[in-house]
Amino acid sequence: MVELKTDTSIDAMYEAGQVVARGLTAVREAADVGVSLRELDEVAHAVLREAGATSPFLGYRPSFAPTPFPAVICASVNDAIVHGIPTAYRLRDGDLVSIDFGAQLGGWAGDSAITFTVGRPRPADLRLIDTAERALAAGIEAAVVGNRIGDIAHAIGTVCREAGYGIPDGFGGHGIGRQMHEDPGVPNEGRPRRGMPLRHGMALAIEPMLITGGKDGYHAAPDGWTLKSNDGSRAAHVEHTVAITEEGPRILTAR
Ligand code: MG
Ligand code: MG
Repeated sequence: MVELKTDTSIDAMYEAGQVVARGLTAVREAADVGVSLRELDEVAHAVLREAGATSPFLGYRPSFAPTPFPAVICASVNDAIVHGIPTAYRLRDGDLVSIDFGAQLGGWAGDSAITFTVGRPRPADLRLIDTAERALAAGIEAAVVGNRIGDIAHAIGTVCREAGYGIPDGFGGHGIGRQMHEDPGVPNEGRPRRGMPLRHGMALAIEPMLITGGKDGYHAAPDGWTLKSNDGSRAAHVEHTVAITEEGPRILTAR
């Protein structure tokens, strides 16, 4: 079931979204060569505490997971695509880092992700990040009343495929509101003019995931959480929580 949000509820979701935005900005500022993923998790946790918000990630246990998620961010480095657990690993020169972060505030959820490099970046990573951001922007641009879910999926998939990147199937965006994960699913590839019509008051987390090698295959690492590309190629993941309104898409996690 898809819950349409009132304009007041969307304003409340914006407040939750802005906690997420502040957390991601703080994590990005803190991230550097030698800094551990656990330290980045602590930076994000401090932002939640300061805002009086809680984490929808901490303790989260979907059906595929062997253990409850132990942190407030996902930190996915290099060939990790999504769902990386922040460990004691210290960032190295040239690492490609995706951070996914959520907040629950006033009964509403926000969810957003960024990908960046630390130290001296590889040109191929910068191209990957640029494409991921263009795919996200294209998806958001398609998130308008009168379009359908398939139009968002098609817009994202087209940008990724034209650049030659792989797209892990079975993972993508989702409705969001009181819970972090709600209906409908928002795939990262699909056919235009298909799927649920978009209506004023829908809120969606739109989140392209791209694999450099062009292949779509992935597997779970031994921790049971981290998804890694099968061929070891590097990956990016970017995400915004977006409300669909008659006035156009409103990015609730805008930084
Ligand atoms: Mg997320
Ligand atoms: Mg999400």
